[in-house]
Amino acid sequence: MITLDLHTHTKYSHGADTPKAMYASALERGMTVIGFSEHSPRPLGFDYTHEYRDALSAHLSDYVREVTDLRASPQTGENGPCRVLFGMEMDWLEGEEEYARRSANAFDFDYLIGSVHFLGHWGFDDGTGPWEDASQEICEHRYAQYFRHWEDMARSGLYNIAAHPDLIKIFSVDSFHIWLQKETSRQQIRRCLTVLRDGGMAMEISSAGLRKACREIYPAPPIMVMARELQVPITFASDAHAVKDVAFGFPRLESYARSFGFDRHVFFDHGRKTEIPL
Ligand SMILES: [Zn+2]
Ligand SMILES: [Zn+2]
Repeated sequence: MITLDLHTHTKYSHGADTPKAMYASALERGMTVIGFSEHSPRPLGFDYTHEYRDALSAHLSDYVREVTDLRASPQTGENGPCRVLFGMEMDWLEGEEEYARRSANAFDFDYLIGSVHFLGHWGFDDGTGPWEDASQEICEHRYAQYFRHWEDMARSGLYNIAAHPDLIKIFSVDSFHIWLQKETSRQQIRRCLTVLRDGGMAMEISSAGLRKACREIYPAPPIMVMARELQVPITFASDAHAVKDVAFGFPRLESYARSFGFDRHVFFDHGRKTEIPL
C-alpha cells in the first residue's frame, strides 16, 4: 500500500483547502508521509487565465509557517504517525533559471518538485482551446519542445522530483501516443530520463492525469518501461488541490507501477533520498 503522497496543493495557490485540512485528510486516508508542494510564484509574463500570483506571493510566509508547524508536531493516523515534508512545486521557465535558483534557495525545503507547465510563455495546460484545431504536426512540435524543457529542468540540478512527466498529453492524448511510437521521440525521452537519474532525481507517478481530459496516469506506459530499464527512482503523487483528492487513485498507481517491475519508491527529507519498499 502506498502511504506517501508527495505532491499536494493548498488554498494558497489555486487549491481549496488549508494545509491543516489537507493534513487531516492525509491522516484519515492512512498516509504516513504527506508532502506539501505548493506552487512557487512565477515571474511576470508567465500567466494563467486565472492567475494566483499576487495572493500566493502575499501569503507565501503563511504557507511556510503552517507547513513547518505541522511538520514540528506530527499526529497519528490509521497507519501510525504521519510525517510532514515541506516542499514546493517550482516551474522550469525558459530564460528564468536565476529566478528559479533564488526561489529554490529561499527556504529550507525538504524537496523541490520541478515542473514544465509553460512552452515559452504559453501555459499549455491552461485550457483546451489552443489544442482543439492543432494538427498532428503542431502537436508533435509541442511535445518535442516540452521534453527539451524537461531535459533542461533536469540538468539544472535544482530539483529532486520531476512532476507529471508527460503533462503535455493533457489535451491531445491520442496524438501524443502516435508521437510516442516514434523511435526519435523515445530517444529524446530516454535521454531526459538518463539525465534525471544521473542527477539523483526521481520521476513522479501521478494520478492527476486520471482526473484530467487525457484520463491517463502520468506518465504513459512506454515512459514507464524506459524508466524501469534505466532504473529511475519513482515517487507517488495525487497532485491534490482539495482534501477529497489526497491519495487519489493510489491502489491503481501501485498496481500500475508494479506491472512495470517497480518494487520500491523514494522520498526526500532535507534533500536526502530514502528508498522504501512498495
Ligand atoms: Zn504541476
Ligand atoms: Zn501540482
